[in-house]
Amino acid sequence: MGLDILVVGEVRNSKIHSVTYELTSKARELAEKLKSSVEVLLLYSECDDSLEELIYRGADRVLYVKNDKLSLFNQEVWTNIIVDVALKRKPYIMLTGATSSGRTFFPAVAAKLNTGLTADCTGLDIEEETKLLLQTRPAIGGNVMATIKTPNHKPQMATVRPRTFRPLPENKDRKGEIIELKPDEKLFNSRVKVISFKRDETQNVNIQDADVVVAFGKGIKKPENVKYILELADVLKAAVGASRAAVDAKWISYPHQVGLSGKVVSPKLYIAAGISGAVQHIAGMQTSEYIVAINKDSEAPIFKVADFGIVGDLFEVIPELTKRIRQEIEKPGGKKDEV
Ligand SMILES: Cc1cc2nc3c(=O)[nH]c(=O)nc-3n(C[C@H](O)[C@H](O)[C@H](O)COP(=O)(O)OP(=O)(O)OC[C@H]3O[C@@H](n4cnc5c(N)ncnc54)[C@H](O)[C@@H]3O)c2cc1C
Repeated sequence: MGLDILVVGEVRNSKIHSVTYELTSKARELAEKLKSSVEVLLLYSECDDSLEELIYRGADRVLYVKNDKLSLFNQEVWTNIIVDVALKRKPYIMLTGATSSGRTFFPAVAAKLNTGLTADCTGLDIEEETKLLLQTRPAIGGNVMATIKTPNHKPQMATVRPRTFRPLPENKDRKGEIIELKPDEKLFNSRVKVISFKRDETQNVNIQDADVVVAFGKGIKKPENVKYILELADVLKAAVGASRAAVDAKWISYPHQVGLSGKVVSPKLYIAAGISGAVQHIAGMQTSEYIVAINKDSEAPIFKVADFGIVGDLFEVIPELTKRIRQEIEKPGGKKDEV
């Protein structure tokens, strides 16, 4: 067995899902340490994106299976094909996104390959001496970070939540291969008939796609005060995020929750107001490009991950910040469209 890494990517609505690039980037970093290569596997019926893009962003080989029978996700079919590919290519490590489908097929693939699986990793690395995959994830209710190894079985398998890693920038000088795989027709057989796919329209708050997220926590004190956050979010054209404490208090709905049991976000700017910075919250926003924390407690753990910290009362800081940003935007020649 070599030391190659197989990323099982995802194509959704005919587009390569961003988690595929994020995992390809991490796999590239791991492969450099192993002196091995990165393969990305995609299963789809239609894909409008160029597969070369995966090569430009870190893959050595893109393997794809294109078949009309892959138009609707079917766990059994995905498992059959991925297991078949794994048995033939014998990867040392297999990674996929902890999306709803990844969470469904990867455990089944691991069981069929008789190996272990670490779900929802927040960090991956290679142990220098043993070359084993170090799979780090929150454990015991998120109170400790556990690093898990799989010394006795291969491949070493892990899922990673979207936005945990950053994609590599495009490098059009990178070269690689694109290979079509034609699995045996019988692998497309399933006892399950998928009739249709219906989107859950109640989950339409997409804080994961926003460039700017303004998030609040228990420090906001009462639901009437959420208006201060909404005003700041409005001038910044930002999405609104929240801590679990704020969601549990019913000050905002669950799709806004950032963290271990909410969403992972990675915006250009994350403003955390009245959020203490519990590990479970940090797990959901630590890859943001710039983090600004506003908290009246100078010892609050959120300041450890913040690029800019404002120690102060958010009821003074937020309205002042909103006012100043608005003035900056509205003054002649202001940065109206750049925020
Ligand atoms: C299994 C598990 C999963 C979890 N998942 C998540 C998750 O996904 N997301 C998440 O967020 N949490 C999660 N938690 C909960 C987490 O441990 C914390 O309890 C939660 O993040 C605390 O929220 P908070 O920071 O809003 O509240 P608090 O910890 O109460 O902090 C409030 C902060 O506001 C500050 N403050 C108060 N008044 C002001 C003011 N006027 N001006 C400025 N600052 C002020 C305080 O100094 C304090 O730091 C999880 C916990 C467990 C056990």
